[in-house]
Amino acid sequence: MTAQAAQAVATTAGAMEHVIDVQNLTRVFGAFRAVDGISFHVRRGEVFGFLGANGAGKSTTIRILCGLLAPSSGQGHVLGYDIMRDLEKVKPHVGYMSQKFSLYPDLTVSENLDFFGGIYGVPPRRLSERKSWAVEMSGLAGQEKRLTSTLSGGLKQRLALGAALLHEPEMIFLDEPTAGVAPAARRLFWDLIRTLSGRGITVFVTTHYMDEVEQCDRIALMSRGRIVALDTPANLKRNALGGVLLNFECHSSIRDVREKLSGESDIMDIQPFGAAFHVVFRDQEDPCGAFFEICRRKGLDACDISIARVTLEDVFITVIGKVER
Ligand code: ADP
Ligand code: MG
Repeated sequence: MTAQAAQAVATTAGAMEHVIDVQNLTRVFGAFRAVDGISFHVRRGEVFGFLGANGAGKSTTIRILCGLLAPSSGQGHVLGYDIMRDLEKVKPHVGYMSQKFSLYPDLTVSENLDFFGGIYGVPPRRLSERKSWAVEMSGLAGQEKRLTSTLSGGLKQRLALGAALLHEPEMIFLDEPTAGVAPAARRLFWDLIRTLSGRGITVFVTTHYMDEVEQCDRIALMSRGRIVALDTPANLKRNALGGVLLNFECHSSIRDVREKLSGESDIMDIQPFGAAFHVVFRDQEDPCGAFFEICRRKGLDACDISIARVTLEDVFITVIGKVER
């Protein structure tokens, strides 16, 4: 073992199985800070989710962490490799499924797997075994000669996952793997993700779907290059709003509601929620009664006030709204 490899092992063990641990990770393009000083860690075997609007910096972060793009500055390690000095060495140890799956439509299932096996340097003797595993996992056993262009979105996506796992990496990066895939296929795909994680493979995934975010062990919410919230889904729902969530109905527009209730120190945020409204209210005894009293005083005809179950969507809308104000 080289001194560097020994140090990498020691660092990984010392960090209590943090396969990713970065501080102030930054990437600039010209004067633009696409990733702006983010700090976080990822534990071995965890399903770690990244959520954020288009342009938030998710793909750029993933490309850095896979060793495909150099960071501009920062400190830390990925699988024990120093992010500023040695990050390209991480490539053989990770799998990467890019936003647009990289499969070739005019190759067969088998040919695509041969191609990726070659790219990932899977030894020819091992490759046939790994290919069998990949077709089995993607539900394509017996269909190895099919042209990839004829596969459904869900099958293509699972084949792309199989291809990214041919070299048995310890960590896999999935960049919006389920965009444009039917709901039933998305669910199957997430069963696969949970299975991989159960076998100790770390999964780093970006998504726009709230039901998928719920299935991550921890999630980071990204906005304009920064991480603005990071925790388990349960903790985010419990803590991130900073108050109790109330639902109420009323005949006024969101503008009127906001205007009438402005300047109330117990009201932290008001958002439309379907045909009703959600308000983040300072936690107190009988919040519904206190809110009703404010509405009465302000001449707002609020009714059916109740404590609402917090969804991650509420958390994200509130947190992003706060950051952008
Ligand atoms: P996301 O994946 O969250 O949608 P990206 O990481 O793809 O966001 O992009 C973040 C920002 O960085 C965007 O504004 C994008 O235009 C910019 N960006 C990404 N790659 C480059 C590049 N190679 N050159 C210049 N700007 C880039
Ligand atoms: Mg992206």
